[in-house]
Amino acid sequence: QKYIADENRYKKINYRRTGNSGLLLPELSLGLWHNFGKNDDFDNARNLLKCAFDNGITHFDLANNYGPPYGSAEKTFGKILKKDFKKYRDELIISSKAGYDMWEGPYGNFGSKKYLISSLDQSLKRMDLEYVDIFYHHRPDPDTPLEETMGALDLMVRQGKALYVGISNYQPKEAEKAFKILKDLGTPCLIHQPRYSLFDRWIEDGLVDLLGNSGVGAICFSPLAQGMLTDKYINGLPKDSRAVKDGRYLKTDKVMEMLPKIKALNEVAKSRNQNLAQMAISWILKDDRITSVLIGASKTEQILDSLKATENTIFSEEELARINSILA
Ligand code: NDP
Repeated sequence: QKYIADENRYKKINYRRTGNSGLLLPELSLGLWHNFGKNDDFDNARNLLKCAFDNGITHFDLANNYGPPYGSAEKTFGKILKKDFKKYRDELIISSKAGYDMWEGPYGNFGSKKYLISSLDQSLKRMDLEYVDIFYHHRPDPDTPLEETMGALDLMVRQGKALYVGISNYQPKEAEKAFKILKDLGTPCLIHQPRYSLFDRWIEDGLVDLLGNSGVGAICFSPLAQGMLTDKYINGLPKDSRAVKDGRYLKTDKVMEMLPKIKALNEVAKSRNQNLAQMAISWILKDDRITSVLIGASKTEQILDSLKATENTIFSEEELARINSILA
């Protein structure tokens, strides 16, 4: 059956300007790190993308190695694009990345020009795209000159294979250097993609200020700390949760360790008439230097649930103090 996107989609979410650029991004974006691999349910993956787009989520975030196996999330995404989203290509912001382990040998990891250029070519083939909207260097590489890595990003834009470029997981000092190199090359850095949530606040120590002052956007990943910042683990470990089902990146031990904080935060959320997932997302969106919150989802209901976070992004001093004391 032919997919026709909801005609009211653009009335359902706000869009924020990405730094000083011309590009607007939805307050929530959807990442394909989990649930789009080779052995994940294809129809579910398809429904997740349709549900997101029907609600104005125009931005889908990928990387070369999302799966498992590596590359398979891009393949799944390419298939769904072909089936359902062909006529919507110009309404989508599709990103990919390279920087982590991808293929064997010295050219399939880190930050050389050799790796980044060939990895983007592979990503474009897997997704059957002519270009990505944003390409990121996925993590800093201490052994490759930053000039080479940023030069590779600049080249992709000149080749027409990426419209914008960004960096991910860079500390403020190295990010600042990267911005300067890119600016001098004539390809300003669009956006930085760091991890940020109630449980991981490292970007408050200089990075957000740098991004605000440099006119670079911010898109924050794992805003729910992979599902810990929801009410799902409060009464036990659900069989269909990431910690139980997958366990590669989210361990049940970690969930148990954080449980007292999760429970206390859940009470604050209730007092705001939100659930914990919604509060965790609102709490990030309260800062207008953050362009978008990059969620993951295993079910369409989670996307709909999380979208409600955008309705209440104002926190009182008292609420913030309560949250800070729980996290202290
Ligand atoms: P989240 O912190 O949003 O965790 C998503 C998971 O939380 C879901 O898969 C689901 O897990 C659960 N969940 C989501 N919404 C709800 C809800 N409303 N109620 C209850 N449970 C919910 O983000 P991710 O860790 O998935 O990361 C998001 C994206 O960020 C990735 O897809 C990727 O694009 C990007 N990323 C980038 C990285 C980088 O280095 N640049 C690193 C990591 C991620 P469950 O299976 O339990 O249902």
